[in-house]
Amino acid sequence: KASEKESQFLVSEFAKTFFEDQLFNTTEGKQIGLSYFKERGFTTETIKDFSLGYSPDQWHAFTDEALKKGYQLNYLEKTGLSIVKGDKKFDRFKGRVIFPIFSMSGRVLGFGGRILKNDPKAAKYLNSPESEIYHKSKVLYGLYQAKKYIAKEDNCYLVEGYTDVIQFFQTGVKNVVASSGTALTPDQIRLINRLTPNITVLFDGDAAGIRASLRGIDLILEQGMNVKVCTFPAGEDPDSFAKNNNEVELKAYLNDNATDFIQFKASLLAESAINDPIRKAEVTREIVNSISLIPNEIQQEIYIKECARIMNVSEEVLFSSLAQILAKKQ
Ligand code: ATP
Ligand code: MN
Ligand code: MN
Ligand code: MN
Repeated sequence: KASEKESQFLVSEFAKTFFEDQLFNTTEGKQIGLSYFKERGFTTETIKDFSLGYSPDQWHAFTDEALKKGYQLNYLEKTGLSIVKGDKKFDRFKGRVIFPIFSMSGRVLGFGGRILKNDPKAAKYLNSPESEIYHKSKVLYGLYQAKKYIAKEDNCYLVEGYTDVIQFFQTGVKNVVASSGTALTPDQIRLINRLTPNITVLFDGDAAGIRASLRGIDLILEQGMNVKVCTFPAGEDPDSFAKNNNEVELKAYLNDNATDFIQFKASLLAESAINDPIRKAEVTREIVNSISLIPNEIQQEIYIKECARIMNVSEEVLFSSLAQILAKKQ
């Protein structure tokens, strides 16, 4: 139903504007929300580029205002902005800074909300639930702001979080998006593929980030796209790195450290394990597995040759192992 979705878009647009207004024009918003963003290093221009906001630390300040303006509770509930329990209504994002999530054409689909003080008892980020307008597996955070730069640079940096996107964008690397709050999906990769066949994965330098990079690489290869990987020093994520470096330094780091996926997988073989034949065989198999996902045979061949060189094994062995994997898939 068109009117159903349209109503959800309208209430979401209202919410975005409400949260922005709270951030810039209320004492609480300025003292808590705006100073939080400033501490993270975001400029006013950046905050406006991403329409960041603040949801007051009151049980139903937003819901009350929306109802007063004539928005129906039904749509507030369906978009998840309000939580209805019996005759009580609550603001989902109470007391959080707000990151609106836009469609490629700039419509507000949903929100992420971050708590201000890290607290192990509370979820750091809350996201809008699935709704008729928000399908999280089909959305990339930052795509609306980044799309023209992705096309221009013919490359897309893929990061994990909202703040990674924003800090990169502000530092001058604007061709950047995040999967935000979900494991990367084929639909998300296809959105990038409309703009460029080249993705550089930049996940956090922790174990979770490396696992997510490995999953992401295979999904990207399956779509027939080109994937590079760039890791950050331990304890850093793209946000912290970009905050501590200027545009020239950040771009130099990315250019110097982006490797193709074979190099990346090979580098996961710890220096010490290089002489461990069992580990080496495992990693080699892992790489050939990824190569088997590539739809284009010529590309497969090029990568097999590279793998042979990097892992110092014969091409013949790798081609036959690739053939075996492909045969099993039939
Ligand atoms: P920050 O720098 O604000 O602490 P981050 O972006 O570095 O956050 P990570 O812990 O690296 O956060 O997580 C990456 C992304 O995963 C977040 O940006 C957010 O989209 C999502 N995320 C993190 N924690 C949660 C959570 N508790 N619930 C839902 N999504 C989450
Ligand atoms: Mn992380
Ligand atoms: Mn992170
Ligand atoms: Mn971070």
